[in-house]
Amino acid sequence: MHISHHGAQDGVTGSCHQLHFSETNSVLIDCGSFQGRDARLHPDPRIEFPLDSIDALVLTHVHIDHIGRLPYLLEAGFNKPIYCTPPTARFLPIMLEDAIRLGITRNKKVIAEVIKEIKELIEPVPYGKWQSLKHNAQFRFFPAGHILGSAYVEFDHGDERYVFSGDLGSRCTPILNPPQSPERADVLVLESTYGDRLHEGRETRVGRLEAILCETLENRGVTLIPAFSLGRTQEILFELNQIIEDIGRKSSCDMLKGIDIVIDSPMAIKLTEIYEQMSVYWSEEAREVLTVDNQPFVFSNLIEIDQGGESRGTIEYLKRSGKPAIVIAGSGMCTGGRIMDYLRAFIGRPNTDIVFVGYQAAGTTGRYIQDCQEGKCSVKIDHQEYHVRAKTHTLSGYSAHADQADLIKFVQGIPNKPREIRLVHGEDQAKAVLAEKLKALGHTVNASVSGRTLELPPGFDPKHPDTSKSSQSE
Ligand SMILES: [Zn+2]
Repeated sequence: MHISHHGAQDGVTGSCHQLHFSETNSVLIDCGSFQGRDARLHPDPRIEFPLDSIDALVLTHVHIDHIGRLPYLLEAGFNKPIYCTPPTARFLPIMLEDAIRLGITRNKKVIAEVIKEIKELIEPVPYGKWQSLKHNAQFRFFPAGHILGSAYVEFDHGDERYVFSGDLGSRCTPILNPPQSPERADVLVLESTYGDRLHEGRETRVGRLEAILCETLENRGVTLIPAFSLGRTQEILFELNQIIEDIGRKSSCDMLKGIDIVIDSPMAIKLTEIYEQMSVYWSEEAREVLTVDNQPFVFSNLIEIDQGGESRGTIEYLKRSGKPAIVIAGSGMCTGGRIMDYLRAFIGRPNTDIVFVGYQAAGTTGRYIQDCQEGKCSVKIDHQEYHVRAKTHTLSGYSAHADQADLIKFVQGIPNKPREIRLVHGEDQAKAVLAEKLKALGHTVNASVSGRTLELPPGFDPKHPDTSKSSQSE
């Protein structure tokens, strides 16, 4: 077997790898969109590699940076099976429909045709079950603990096993179990988004969420939470529900219970319903909550906004009334979606707070705002300049991604050392720092894709990873 990379080897987005079993047989693992700076480096999303030998597409999960180029893959003539886990099979058409509408075309007929074609190709494969491929190869999925339906994938061919991590979850993610290490991996393709970070305070994340939201509400302004509609939104709703309904602990912030919490995302509302229906894939701990609360994503002061008109009305109402509120809306990196309307309306107000709970990739509007020193910068939204007077916060410890400790645990849990660990899906520093750590543990690491040797930044001490700033990717 050998691997070629068509994305995510030099950045965090655009995941797309090809595993070759022979000259004429291979599979694609993910086919994601480039975002932020990566998108500027790859402005043309069309598929530029030959499809002749590709027998199937295997999806690790449905975040856009792992599935977004699927319409272009079909356009290039791909018509082979799309293998994924059962929850991913449910989410995929919804996520793609949205991605096509926002990024490719609003033509309903075209969208319907693409989605129909994709639905016909989807073949769900349960976790743990071997699925045969051509050329005597086979693969199976294991839970990755990142979002519902996420998987890492083991490929067997001849006497070799290659493992692709996809995106790995962290040890204290609510709702899902953390990933277990593979029993064997000759070659491990490992994500490294947080290879240089340790998330702090995971163990008390509900308390931290409560504390930071209460802090932001003290100035009686609007608190904006840009969140991915799949994964992060459900985690926040799940934990807000625990705070508001006093599940498992006594809440200390009455203010949070008294104000409107708005979720403005028809997508997120739809996806939350599926999350609820698929509780069989939740962790035991999360399922336990169901015994005391059969609606773990709903609480008394939650307002769900489905229609565009209601969204505009809510913004006008909040602007006029000056009432405090918490708004959760997508997209998670402020690259589009309804969060942009809220940013336009409130980013210039000093009593606005923006709480980042997700990774902000380089070059995205979210990253500009996150890096913005209070009151000293402006941000462009749809060609218009907005002065950033809002305060920004990053909720450290909130991550759908494994941090350095989780990644090392995942690798160290493999009984025999892999022959090669190939780092992907990380910015240069994250990859370089993780590579150093793994090498110190005796691993053979390849983090110098594209012929560049990654170097540690001057003054960076790999023994003490940064915990000051949290970012996380989807
Ligand atoms: Zn992801």
